[in-house]
Amino acid sequence: MSQKFVGAHTSAAGGVFNAPLNAIKIGAKAFALFTKNQRQWAAKPLDAATIDKFKENLELSGILPKHVLPHDSYLINLGHPEMEKRDKSYNAFVDEVERCMLLGLDRLNFHPGSHLKKIPEDECLDAIAENMNRTLECTSGVSLVLENTAGQGSNLGWRFEHLAHIIDKIEDKSRVGVCIDTCHMFTAGYDIRTRETYDATWAEFEKVVGFKYLKGMHINDSKPPLGSHVDRHQSIGLGEIGADAFKFLMNDERMNDIPLILETIDETIWDKEIEMLYGFEK
Ligand code: ZN
Ligand code: MN
Ligand code: MN
Repeated sequence: MSQKFVGAHTSAAGGVFNAPLNAIKIGAKAFALFTKNQRQWAAKPLDAATIDKFKENLELSGILPKHVLPHDSYLINLGHPEMEKRDKSYNAFVDEVERCMLLGLDRLNFHPGSHLKKIPEDECLDAIAENMNRTLECTSGVSLVLENTAGQGSNLGWRFEHLAHIIDKIEDKSRVGVCIDTCHMFTAGYDIRTRETYDATWAEFEKVVGFKYLKGMHINDSKPPLGSHVDRHQSIGLGEIGADAFKFLMNDERMNDIPLILETIDETIWDKEIEMLYGFEK
């Protein structure tokens, strides 16, 4: 039996409880979701009926909580140069973690943060770590999963060293992880297109961050070329990365038992992409 858990970032329109149902419709064994509108600061709290229905549908889907990778709001910047906005982000982030706790989920995926060219990189990374520590102190059971970025604009987290810098400062290392997005990794300058480059990039990841922190992946091909620092996803096999990297990945046991989430641009073919990815397994 396959040890890979492939899925997609499914819609939670109408309620979070719809996400697991949307996942099984496309043959997914994992999924990602927003537990609130990702473009707004505030959300009404999850009520008991919604929580029960989510847990019921998750059970029905056969998908385990550890294979669900919720994503936080795009507005949150834990390393914001302005204290007022940094605090606003912190409060919204705690709310996101609490929503995961209520839903019985064990990890939250988020983008580290941006310095907006107003503070040095190190200061921004330290602020992110500090807010993560504060969050860990007042919550339980949910790991904070840093996503690598393409390094577009002033977004940090595109170098493995950024992720390592933050992890190093986290007090409870049992509750920190990383999610590697293949498109972001590639446009950040990490090649994975050939056996040699794939092996070298992941060896670098192991050396700088460590596979023990890998708690999920975003499986995307890329429209822009290697090292372009532009974040534009493409369907698997149709972009600059190409299918081979995903064949290596589907046969790499270091990616076993974690959510592997498609965020590719054409959701009407997610079912076929999932099937194709499982077809890559030898
Ligand atoms: Zn993301
Ligand atoms: Mn992503
Ligand atoms: Mn992206």
